[in-house]
Amino acid sequence: MTGRFAPSPSGRMHLGNLWSCLLAWLAARNAGGGMVLRLEDLDPDRCKQEYCDQVMRDLEWLGLDWDGQPVYQSKRTDAYAEAFHQLERQGLSYPCFCTRAERLAASAPHRSDGAAVYDGRCGRLTDAERAEMEKTRRPAWRVRVPEKTITICDLLYGNYKENLKRDCGDFILRRSDGVYAYQLAVVVDDAAMGVSQVVRGSDLLSSAPRQLWLQEMLGLPHPEYGHLPLLLSPDGRRLAKRDRDQELGRLQEQYAAPELVGRLAHAANLIDRAEAITPWELVPLFSWEKLPREDFTL
Ligand code: GLU
Repeated sequence: MTGRFAPSPSGRMHLGNLWSCLLAWLAARNAGGGMVLRLEDLDPDRCKQEYCDQVMRDLEWLGLDWDGQPVYQSKRTDAYAEAFHQLERQGLSYPCFCTRAERLAASAPHRSDGAAVYDGRCGRLTDAERAEMEKTRRPAWRVRVPEKTITICDLLYGNYKENLKRDCGDFILRRSDGVYAYQLAVVVDDAAMGVSQVVRGSDLLSSAPRQLWLQEMLGLPHPEYGHLPLLLSPDGRRLAKRDRDQELGRLQEQYAAPELVGRLAHAANLIDRAEAITPWELVPLFSWEKLPREDFTL
């Protein structure tokens, strides 16, 4: 069994990121499994080496460790290109010339997460139309999804289903600036890193069907999934980077690491009171049955 941390180093981690990291680590270590670290620094505009370094310092501060060397997505372009070409050879990809405005106009807000479902219009261009468009714009590349319902059996949520065509639409594999998309990179990397259990926030539950399908198309194994309820801000919103008081830098001024771990462990129903405890002390107390099913505030 191998679990993973997959933080996006686009700023300092907040309490919600720590919640996911702690539980992913506990699930892996409780099962006697390994834990790998992948820095999801695909977006050169948002991710910096100093943020990667900070993420690693923060995980260490909390008492969470990982096995082997960290993997940087920014260094794995060749692996993504290979998977991209594999999908291309299967005739599954097509260039999309839509601008952001056109993309939104060509989409219905349909998905469970409110994201746009693209109507696939660039997939219906003739060769001549495509050649014409190529003269003026650099395309993004999408994958053409079938009319197919994918069901994941989630460790916490039970069965979760999406129809790829209706609920997801043809999704991006590579942006027009050449950056490979999260959905492709995550699937390639989870397989390459031997990840067999993915534990992350339920904001990514709606990505799981796309990832399962890509795994199938690329002949990769399916890990098991556990999507955690989200930690909300005190006023009930989803935590965002702008919630500065939930950011680790701020929290470190108020709490020692075992105190913070204790608060999260209490929210996870692993201990009766929010008292100081280390991650390793929590390992034997972890069980999926104890975890909350609803989003919560701390
Ligand atoms: N990098 C993503 C995030 O920090 C997580 C991706 C994943 O767990 O699949 O939200």
